[in-house]
Amino acid sequence: MRNKLIKQIFIACMAVFVMSFGMMLVAMTDYYGRKSQKEMQENAAFLASLLNAQDWQFLEEMEHQSDLRITLVSPEGAVIFDSLHPAQTLGNHGDREEIQMALQQGEGRSVRYSETLQKRTDNYAVRLENGSVLRLSIVPHVVPELILSMLNPMLVVIFMAMLLSVVLASQFAKRIMQPINRLDVENPDDRYLYDEMKPFVHRIMAQNKQIYKQMSELKEEHSKQDEMRREFTANVSHELKTPLTSISGFAEIIRDGFVQEKDIPHFADNIYNEAQRLIVLVNDILKLSRLEEGVTVQDEMTNVELKSLCEEVSQRLALNAEKCGVQLTCGGVPAEIQGVRNMIEEIIYNVCDNAIKYNREGGSVAISVETVENKACVRVKDTGIGIPKADIDRVFERFYRVNKSHSKEVGGTGLGLSIVKHGMAFHNASITIESEVDVGTEICLYFPMKEGGEPPQVSCFA
Ligand code: ADP
Repeated sequence: MRNKLIKQIFIACMAVFVMSFGMMLVAMTDYYGRKSQKEMQENAAFLASLLNAQDWQFLEEMEHQSDLRITLVSPEGAVIFDSLHPAQTLGNHGDREEIQMALQQGEGRSVRYSETLQKRTDNYAVRLENGSVLRLSIVPHVVPELILSMLNPMLVVIFMAMLLSVVLASQFAKRIMQPINRLDVENPDDRYLYDEMKPFVHRIMAQNKQIYKQMSELKEEHSKQDEMRREFTANVSHELKTPLTSISGFAEIIRDGFVQEKDIPHFADNIYNEAQRLIVLVNDILKLSRLEEGVTVQDEMTNVELKSLCEEVSQRLALNAEKCGVQLTCGGVPAEIQGVRNMIEEIIYNVCDNAIKYNREGGSVAISVETVENKACVRVKDTGIGIPKADIDRVFERFYRVNKSHSKEVGGTGLGLSIVKHGMAFHNASITIESEVDVGTEICLYFPMKEGGEPPQVSCFA
């Protein structure tokens, strides 16, 4: 930037120099032109007074300069005397513009090309008392001539001007760059800033603040995630340990021969049940971690018709419902959405399974599919034990159960609604939950029906 500035300033200095030099030359030419005309007029007047008083022969004895031509012409135009050429070699001058004017008006002036001198000449003629005409001619100074005559001093001036321009340019550039080099973007001092730079610097400061804020938010997020991961690992270990301890205990008693032959099937059944619990738990953990890592690929997205999917789920759960003495119904209207079929089935299954599990003998579960504006809603309403207000917000957390022993009794892992939450977020879908203890629970799953629905959100209402 500094070099660019120096270059620009240097060019500007040189441009100013060349322009003023050119203007000076023009002014000088004009000045010299006028000066020499005046001198020529004065000389003519002086010579005319001499010629009026005496014979012209004194002109021949005078010393003549090469740049001033003196010509004396008779009233008929014949050249009587010429300071640069022998008079007899010159033709009739009666037709020369300035001489004609002098003959007619007493004096005449012309600037024209002289055939005799082969140059542009400035002429002044004056009529004498005897009728003849005295003419003085000079070759005016022209710009190139002036330049040539001043070539040496001019070269010195140009060199000096260039040197001065370089020094000035580098000084100016240094001074201009100083506030920029000194600028501390983290902590700028407005006193040393150019007004033009202030908005830019302030914008950078605002962006810096924003970046710091985002970085600290990211850090916070990271530490939160780390904390959650640690908690999850601890929870998983704990959840796995319980059935494994039971299995190990039952196996130990059998091995040590403390179990009577007739009781062995009972113990084997216990071991089998605990192992099944372990399988369900591990499966749920795998599903959840896959969902959290976003492993599901977009290719699996298809058109999913929710009404028929709900009917399939209700058929799968029919036996369970019957065992629990719960009446399961499925209704509503067909509604098609875009999604991963297996994942949506899992979501609906988990919600309906809970509605049966946390119900009571003689209770009911009603599944219905509706369309609300651009959304398809799967409503699962049960007449079960309900969820206390304080726990509603937490049931989507991993391993959170309102009543741990009851959940275990009915084969829960505490991960069902967590899987629902992540699956819904994947589909840009939202959940609402309303519940009252001993009255029942209603969970609505809202899926966007058009592509690019609302951003993922999970909201809970008591
Ligand atoms: P679980 O495997 O224990 O069912 P979930 O994540 O599916 O785990 O549910 C978390 C907790 O929320 C359950 O333990 C239960 O206490 C409560 N819950 C979920 N659904 C219902 C419901 N329909 N009625 C009453 N309580 C429910």
